[in-house]
Amino acid sequence: MVQENLTDVEQRIQAACERAGRDRNEVTLIAVSKTKPVSMLNEAYGCGIREFGENKVQEMMDKYEQMPQDIHWHMIGHLQRNKVKYLMGKAYLIHSVDSLRLAEEISAQSVKHQVQTDILIEVNIAGEESKFGISGEETIRLVEAAAALPNIHIRGLMTIAPFTDHPEDNRIYFRKIKELSVDIDRKKIDNVDMHILSMGMTGDYEVAIEEGATMVRVGTGIFGERLRTELTIHQM
Ligand SMILES: *Cc1c(COP(=O)(O)O)cnc(C)c1O
Repeated sequence: MVQENLTDVEQRIQAACERAGRDRNEVTLIAVSKTKPVSMLNEAYGCGIREFGENKVQEMMDKYEQMPQDIHWHMIGHLQRNKVKYLMGKAYLIHSVDSLRLAEEISAQSVKHQVQTDILIEVNIAGEESKFGISGEETIRLVEAAAALPNIHIRGLMTIAPFTDHPEDNRIYFRKIKELSVDIDRKKIDNVDMHILSMGMTGDYEVAIEEGATMVRVGTGIFGERLRTELTIHQM
């Protein structure tokens, strides 16, 4: 199933790139494997996938130990400061930095472990109360403050668009965050670049690519639905 799904996702990515006049190489597919067993990750690995996304530190660590070394692990979930230390040297990119305190902790741990850590700033572009991430206005201030911290590098922005059955509804948000990233890039802040725009999930990644996404995070579209009961069992 994973192989068929990946073929389908790949075709959709290519078609979206063509519609937008973009090169396929500009878009990285991240396979979001949260709650899924290592056997399924291995299936995706066998199809050539090397970018995996997880939203819980412990689960990422477990899978990190069991999977091949040449994988890039993306931390895409809300991150507590006391767990940052476990990610050092293991997370290829942390997508979910939404406060200066979190950036400071990632910097301090990176210095301590003598590593450089790439991060994205998570923007709640639609202003949804239920979501993590900071507002568009706060983003520039956070970028400027975090840019001065040692051993971390801001590589771009990430957003989670509202859940919708109509992906077109999210086009405006993707466009807004692209504009924000261009505005920040123009400021030419030391130690900051805006090469990465992490946006688009199973429901809306094609629209996100049309609007400039350079990373799309696809879970359900590759691995199938996540069962609520899986989560409940973990929590017991
Ligand atoms: C779970 C998750 C995804 C993938 O969601 P799907 O709708 O299953 O593709 C992407 N990004 C984040 C931050 C997630 O938590």
